[in-house]
Amino acid sequence: MDMAALKAALGEEARRIGFSACGVTSTRPFSEARGRALAAVDAGRMDGMPWYTRERVTASADIGGRYPWARSLIALAWPYRPARSQRAGPGASGVVRGRFSAYACTGEGDGNGAVDYHDLLGRRCDTLVAWLRGEVGDVRAKRFIDHGWALDRAIAERAGIGFAGKHASVITLEAGSYVLLASVAVSVALPVDVPSRRGCGRCTACLPSCPTGAIIAPGVIDARRCISYLTIEHRGSIAHELRPLMGTWAFGCDLCQEACPINHRLAPDPLDVDTATTGRGPVPHPDLVECLELTETEFAERFQGTAVLRTGRAGLARNCAIALGNAGDRTALPALRRSSEHDPDEVVREAALWGIAQLTG
Ligand code: SF4
Ligand code: SF4
Repeated sequence: MDMAALKAALGEEARRIGFSACGVTSTRPFSEARGRALAAVDAGRMDGMPWYTRERVTASADIGGRYPWARSLIALAWPYRPARSQRAGPGASGVVRGRFSAYACTGEGDGNGAVDYHDLLGRRCDTLVAWLRGEVGDVRAKRFIDHGWALDRAIAERAGIGFAGKHASVITLEAGSYVLLASVAVSVALPVDVPSRRGCGRCTACLPSCPTGAIIAPGVIDARRCISYLTIEHRGSIAHELRPLMGTWAFGCDLCQEACPINHRLAPDPLDVDTATTGRGPVPHPDLVECLELTETEFAERFQGTAVLRTGRAGLARNCAIALGNAGDRTALPALRRSSEHDPDEVVREAALWGIAQLTG
């Protein structure tokens, strides 16, 4: 079989399925990336994510060791649409809107809500593996999507589908850094690609764009200061000194991506400015008061099967209370007062009190 032709056809099939980039690399260990990740763990920069351990890093860097049948790693990028930035505070409708990270709004159709990207990418990876089986017969495969034990950025770089920017996200030629990454180990020995030679050059635009100073050096993120970590992974109260820096982000943060001039050129078309509620899932500019006051049942109904579920009802309410405090719109005071008195979660009640203090001076 002509393996070069097979790989070219694989790339075409991946793009037909909807991936924006597809590359191949070997299964040899990712020693450099392992060293960087272990240094981050040792320095405490991943504190607060108890699942991100030295053992996990070491295992993630050696997929070939864990799956001896694997012969190649397929790196895949799935594009998503960024959000148009919107001024904090009340919109034309008088609603105080915050921000959800655009990737959380990635869906099947118009990019507006409703499907968890793990499921979406998982199904697309399975479709690609099924195509490969159709071409070469029996193929063993194991896919990794975000929470899988794999160093997805290192795999993407070595497979040549992009390079790590100074904001630490992988930048691809087809969609900038607005991509979700997936990797698939397969038992077929495919020809490997060469790593990208591109880089940020002298640009440093993303470094000062980070309001919390989480990019402590080019390509090095202190997760403990990153708004994405704070609003999604962090449990409990958020440090008071970080709260005013979090702006109106209620889930994730896209600021360093939005500052990137490469993204300005290459990003897919932005999502439409929405005035929608979160009634059908995540939207880029959610109504903060509405999200603050969701019950557990309402939260589950709206965000079941989406990325936002990860932060939990109380986590989202905590984030919204802080965002409302930062938005500077006193029309949110009644809702914040209700939450400060009646929310079942102590962390939310305290965050609501903080929001009230911000708005009332
Ligand atoms: S996601 Fe936001 S907080 Fe995190 S590094 Fe980028 S700009 Fe900073
Ligand atoms: S903003 Fe500049 S330095 Fe940062 S990732 Fe983009 S190109 Fe690289």
